[in-house]
Formats: sequence, C-alpha cells, structure tokens
Amino acid sequence: MSIQLPFRHLEPTFFAGLLDDPVLLVRVRQLGSNLLFDCGQIHHLAKRVLTAVDAVFISHAHMDHWMGIDTLIRHLHATPKIVDLFGPPGITDKLEHHLAGYDWNLAEENWCRFRVHDVHPQEIISSIFSGPEGFLRQPLGRRARNDRVIFRNRLSQVAAETCDHRVPSLIFRIEERPQLRIDTQKLAEQNLVPGPWLKELKYRYSHPGTDTKPLLIQRSTPAGTEEFPLEDIAELCRQIGQPQDHPGIGYISDIGYTASNRRRISSLLKGVNLLLCECTFLRAAKEKARVSCHLCSDDVNQLLDKLRPTFFLPMHLSKTYNRRSRELYRELEPPPGTRMLELPLHITPAPLRAEMLDWQEFSESPCQDDQ
Ligand SMILES: [Zn+2]
Repeated sequence: MSIQLPFRHLEPTFFAGLLDDPVLLVRVRQLGSNLLFDCGQIHHLAKRVLTAVDAVFISHAHMDHWMGIDTLIRHLHATPKIVDLFGPPGITDKLEHHLAGYDWNLAEENWCRFRVHDVHPQEIISSIFSGPEGFLRQPLGRRARNDRVIFRNRLSQVAAETCDHRVPSLIFRIEERPQLRIDTQKLAEQNLVPGPWLKELKYRYSHPGTDTKPLLIQRSTPAGTEEFPLEDIAELCRQIGQPQDHPGIGYISDIGYTASNRRRISSLLKGVNLLLCECTFLRAAKEKARVSCHLCSDDVNQLLDKLRPTFFLPMHLSKTYNRRSRELYRELEPPPGTRMLELPLHITPAPLRAEMLDWQEFSESPCQDDQ
C-alpha cells in the first residue's frame, strides 16, 4: 500500500503487526538518525537500523514496551556515540538494573554512552552510563520543563505528556522543527534591513530558550541604517514570517480512558497528521479495558473524532482476538477526512521448531563462532 505522508524530514515505519508489541521507528532522513518509540520485541530489526538509533522513547516499562532494551544494548554498546533514552520516572533505575546484569570487564574507550532521562511532569532528571567505565551510573542533574518538548535535533523534536495507565505512561508528539521563512515584503514594510541578524533570528526561532541575550536588528531610518535591540522575538517572527504547518505524528501507547488523559491527549496531539493509537479491546470488553486501563474501540472512535488526523493506525490489539481481528476494523469508525491504515496480524518472524531444521546438514556445515 502506498500512502503519501506530508513529512519533509520524517520517515515513520511501524515495525510490528496488529498483535505484536508496538514499535515505531522514525527516521530523520537528512540526519541518518533513527528515533525509536517503545522497545518490546525488536529482535527482528536489522543491526544497521538499531545502530542508527540516536534516541529512544519508552512510554512505560511493562514488558511488551521495554524488554527489547537488552537487544538494543547488544547492538549499540560498542558503537562510539551517545544514545538518549527518555521514559517515565524510574526508567533510569530500570536501565541501571539491566546494565548491572552483565560483565563489562572488556569495555573499550570507544564504547557508547547512554544518557537517560526520567521525564516528570515538571522536570527532567538525567544520568549517564558510560561504556568505557563499564556503564556505571553518573548523575547529570535536573532541569525544569518550560514546555512539553523533551528532545530536539536539528530537524525534529519530540514532545511528551504524562498519562495514566495505573503507572505513568508517556504519549508523544513527533514533529518537524518549525523553521522561520521570511516574507521579504513584510520585512520591507517594517523598514527592516536584511543582514546577519536574520540568520540569528532564524536560529533562535528554531531553538527557543537557548539564547536570552538581546538580538540587535537593523532598521532603516531617515538618518540611515540603525541597530535596535529586539524586545519580543516571537512577535517579530509572527509579523515577518510566512505561515507554515509543522507536520506531526502522535503516538498513544497504553493508557486508560479517563477525563484527565483525554484532556492531555487533546492538548498534545491536536492537528497531528498521523496518529498511532493503541486499541487493545473491542467494545464488548469495555469493562476489561477500564479495569486494565486500556482503550477499547469506542474510546478510540471518540478520540479520533476530537483529533481528526489525516491518517490513523490502530495498533496493539489484545492477542485474545487472534481470530477476530477483522471485528476491530469494523468497530472503528474514523471521521470523514481520516484514513485508517491496516496492519498484518504479525510481522515478527515465526519461531523455529526443532523439526524444521535438517540436523544432518546442520552438523556437517563448518562451525561459525558467535560474535
Ligand atoms: Zn501497559
């Protein structure tokens, strides 16, 4: 199936079937950088996909969203780079336990570093686990959250909100970073003179909060070109910028259908172009959904009606519906303008059974050392 997504830099791939553990990979094309959302079964992802992962975002640490972290560590640990990992409070302790479960006496100077961030509603507390030092934990400090954005690279950003799933569960909005495009006519109307200050203005627009020094802008006056300190960067950008949309992806993993979760979803994910949303139960099992703090098809229909994404991918259906998955697509009713995408039941490889192997041939082939 070929669909036209509105992203310039983001390339989302969902590496799971409808009944598999959810795994979303977003490639930021020009940077060759992969962002990984949830990390349950990931053994089927190619090494080159995993070694290009620069940041990991964990919704919550139930096994089906987290147990693949060992596979990720296995592929990344000897790669010379820093990998950021974001999750709900406690994720740093959990990673520490995983890392402490192995011997690292052969660590080398060029091994990777995991920079891990506990995302609280009001602050982020960070630590680093350095490969060359055997992945011992070192605190990096805490920073207050001024907005919902938890991660930025040159072309994309990820915002998070904390929802409730009987444990904190993060939902994410992944979007291309806003770039300021100048409308030269509006610039002239304000008597502003183009110069190097425009480059600085564009940088500060895309990196809010990084520089608080006054920016000097150039304006033509009857006495010639003069410099003025700029008071309000956001206001000037509104006045001289060309309007643009910032295409985005919404990712809702396990959450309950509570009023506060609904408020948080609406405020974080309004206007996303592609929404991936768990739908664990059919409507007849609404009570089960309430008890386990998951969504059922009726809940998802109501969320869709509010969010109106262009594309919608239901995911993470309970394995108990193995033979009844078509019912899910019959119960989901996307509003006009929203196109629903369908997944195969499984994309993870089926397990090998002993009788499938030809032991005779196997024992005669040359022995290959494990790496
Ligand atoms: Zn869960």
